[in-house]
Amino acid sequence: MIIKPKGTYDIVDKEAIKMQRINHLIDYFCEFYNYDYIRTPIFEASELFHRSVGESSDIVTKETYDFKDRGERDLTLRPEGTAGVVRSFIENKMYGSNLPRKFYYNGPMYRYERPGNGRNREFTQFGVEILGSNDPAIDAEIISMPYRLFEELGFKDLTVKINNLGDKKDRAKYRDALVEYLTPHIKELCSDCQKRFTTNPLRILDCKVDGDSVVLKNAPSILDYQSEDSNNRFKKVLEYLNYLDIDYEVDKTLVRGLDYYDYTVFEIVSDLSILKGSSTIAAGGRYNNLVESLGGPSTPCMGFACGLERIGLAMDEFEEIKKRPLDCYIMYINEEEKLKAIMLAQDLRISGVSVDYDTTGKSLKSQFKEADRKNAQLLIILNSEDLQKGLINVKDNLTKEEKKIDENEIIDYIVSNG
Ligand code: ATP
Ligand code: MG
Repeated sequence: MIIKPKGTYDIVDKEAIKMQRINHLIDYFCEFYNYDYIRTPIFEASELFHRSVGESSDIVTKETYDFKDRGERDLTLRPEGTAGVVRSFIENKMYGSNLPRKFYYNGPMYRYERPGNGRNREFTQFGVEILGSNDPAIDAEIISMPYRLFEELGFKDLTVKINNLGDKKDRAKYRDALVEYLTPHIKELCSDCQKRFTTNPLRILDCKVDGDSVVLKNAPSILDYQSEDSNNRFKKVLEYLNYLDIDYEVDKTLVRGLDYYDYTVFEIVSDLSILKGSSTIAAGGRYNNLVESLGGPSTPCMGFACGLERIGLAMDEFEEIKKRPLDCYIMYINEEEKLKAIMLAQDLRISGVSVDYDTTGKSLKSQFKEADRKNAQLLIILNSEDLQKGLINVKDNLTKEEKKIDENEIIDYIVSNG
């Protein structure tokens, strides 16, 4: 037997119902927020991720699926969605007019990680990218949109953790101060952080091992190293969030694991115990320099991404996940009735009624049981005698009331009663 690769999973039955429900809500929300759907390739040139996500990021140093194709090209299965959207924005010269462009994507991502609760090697991210506006109202929208969507799915007690990384200059000043502060404490940090100290000291603040240590708790705050403009910008974002009634917490240690962020960064965290170890369900931030660093014109942008599997895990806490009831089940015994069943099923299905019928030779008694199992609301019980008189037997499976309906009116009857 061949089994699925480590860190992947099959989405079927209850998991499939949850995913369909989330996907449906995503499409619905994005229509009202006026985001356009975008789909970019699942593999891209490896260089794209090295240059955007960052050479020293965890993703690029240890998590990417890299391969050479038969033409010796260096390719990578996408570990995240922003790089592809930005590449497409530049390659298709979308920066010329109609800004900002507001996009959403929803698809598989790949990271070579240790699989665990809410952590897989193939997983699904829904994300939004708004390219071409530096308005703090965009920051507030990018944070409030997933927050409201999660609430709609059933999440309560969500917290937004938010921080301001400022621009490159602010970060350089802070980096120097942090390095000076950490220098006498290097030995107290984990081995990963000792490496980060030279490659990317800010990322030490984000460390899952050292995160709660006294050394990091007493570290200087990035918020004290902001220019006045950056400070005012952040105040405006928080003011908009207040007006939108979003519950946030300023977290001066939040830096995020990707290299391209500046100004606002945030995470939406759930306190459900089922999400232990993977409580961040969405994360994002502003990336005003990425378009330019990938060869496009300077374009301020902001986005977020969220993991659908983590949302799926949480949904089990909100309600019992069940398949939608079937509107109608058609029963028959002989070949003449079966032919009618097949034709009726097609007509009803294209009229918007969900319909099924037996194809395994079940007795009438077993067909009744099957209808109950499928939670069918209406039963059409065909019999040749009635059919010859142009009549069709319909039974309401809840009230058990039966009626004979004229064959010519059966579609209308089922549509309005189903
Ligand atoms: P973490 O700190 O949990 O590793 P991250 O910072 O690597 O998360 P991002 O790159 O910001 O995560 O991705 C955004 C969201 O995508 C996460 O908040 C999470 O919901 C989801 N996600 C990231 N990696 C995985 C994974 N391996 N499996 C499932 N979901 C994931
Ligand atoms: Mg990660």
